[in-house]
Amino acid sequence: MAGSFDESGADLELVGVTKRFPGFTAIENLNLTIPAGSFFALLGPSGCGKTTTLRLVAGLEEPTAGRILIGGKDVTTSKPHQRPVNTVFQSYALFPHMTVLGNVEFGLKRRGISSARELAHEALRLVELDHVAGRRPAQLSGGQQQRVALARAVVNRPALLLLDEPLGALDLKLRRQMQLELKSIQSEVGLTFLHVTHDQEEAMTMADTVAVMNKGRIEQMGAPEELYELPRTTFVANFLGQSNLFTGDVVSTEKDSMTVDIAGLGIKVPRERAQRHAGEVTIGVRPEKLTLHTAKPESTAGVNILGPGTVIDVSFTGVSTQYLVQVPGLPVLTVFAQNMVFGPVAEPGAEVYVSWRV
Ligand code: ATP
Repeated sequence: MAGSFDESGADLELVGVTKRFPGFTAIENLNLTIPAGSFFALLGPSGCGKTTTLRLVAGLEEPTAGRILIGGKDVTTSKPHQRPVNTVFQSYALFPHMTVLGNVEFGLKRRGISSARELAHEALRLVELDHVAGRRPAQLSGGQQQRVALARAVVNRPALLLLDEPLGALDLKLRRQMQLELKSIQSEVGLTFLHVTHDQEEAMTMADTVAVMNKGRIEQMGAPEELYELPRTTFVANFLGQSNLFTGDVVSTEKDSMTVDIAGLGIKVPRERAQRHAGEVTIGVRPEKLTLHTAKPESTAGVNILGPGTVIDVSFTGVSTQYLVQVPGLPVLTVFAQNMVFGPVAEPGAEVYVSWRV
């Protein structure tokens, strides 16, 4: 994109932000730094405080304690219109009686900006909708309407764009497509995006950095791969995809690994992956890391084997098949196996073993 969208966004800093409603603490001592130009996702279940955080940044709520800085400037007590921030909501909130172009240029015209029309066309080109500039919102699809809302939100070049579940109203296919589009638009305009979602796949697909929120606090923050591979809490492990979790005591530690007693089995764990090397620990193994065997595999160094167990359920999910396996003394295991040309590896009731590389 040429010219006008080349300014970098501002960084956002929340310092010890707390928000209490009467009888309820929605946000507790939140500390967060979002670098300029990044795509940052706040991910968490319903009620964890995501929207409240956005409303605090937008100036629609005032924090009970703490400070909010945008581009180094303290905006904690600034009114919403004094902040260099725009918000895109799940409901597109377009004016139905205005054309697409009218919607996008409205704010700029009201502020008397002479190049309003030119800038609106430029923003519409960015979202590839300039060819429908003369239509009304009702003549567009849901995805197109959301792109118009996005064009309207970036047209005045806010330093920071807040996105509150912006794709929530779209069907799955369109949602996936829009995720990629939003990401490419963000890298094109270079603004700082703060995106709120409860959809882990959405957060992982789009964001450079994801913060997982739970009950008003951030449990873990990092690159998507880091959160997936090295979750620090069981909440994060479970929220970002499925995980098989086992709890047991560390019985010995070796140079590179340690051994944990899980239902009488000595399960090996790489030392560098463990946060603790003594006492009770929880191990998480992703279902796609597990291999299902219909006969006992030979014991090999560096491979953990569980079993025998029984397949209790098989479900075809497209790319893979999900098996639920009950090994006595363990929680039910979930195994994702790549689909075979000739059908499932095992049927319900079959005796199986499960293994994974340490
Ligand atoms: P969702 O995904 O469902 O929108 P969320 O993570 O965005 O959830 P918030 O809307 O930030 O959650 O709400 C966090 C908590 O604060 C909720 O328990 C909510 O009931 C509470 N809350 C939000 N606004 C108020 C208010 N004005 N008064 C009292 N409690 C509130």
